Amino acid sequence: MEKYHVSRLRSFANSREVAPRLLLQALLKKAEYLNTDNITRVTAFTYLVPSEKSDEKYEVDISVGICMCEAGKHGKFCKHQAGILKCFSLLPPNAPGVTAEARHRIAVVALGDEAEPLSFYQPLRNGGDQPSQINTVDVNDSTVRSHSDECNI
Ligand SMILES: [Zn+2]
Repeated sequence: MEKYHVSRLRSFANSREVAPRLLLQALLKKAEYLNTDNITRVTAFTYLVPSEKSDEKYEVDISVGICMCEAGKHGKFCKHQAGILKCFSLLPPNAPGVTAEARHRIAVVALGDEAEPLSFYQPLRNGGDQPSQINTVDVNDSTVRSHSDECNI
């Protein structure tokens, strides 16, 4: 049974599971209407993100991965959080595990000391189907990250 779990975790760590990547791609596509002009930054981790279909604005706390929309208030990664990822390169803890750091952590769980170093999980090329640089939100890091005014996708 342990071999089964190690195999599944290695499959995820080596990007052989397409579901997280496809989910992120779909949400980034839904978040195309969002940009740095219509998202309002309230605090280092809190943003007001407009609804696509109404004048409503949803409060998103990116440090815990909560959005006040119907999907996001139950902890689901939603298009409003995807918009913050798209525009500010901030990744909430509930986002699909597509980053090198997330895949490396899974590899360490599966393989322990035999896991490859983090650099092994870095993408071979920038761009493509995911943001070139993503910052995982660390609430213990009190420094406010500098953000580009341009969306980088
Ligand atoms: Zn939402």
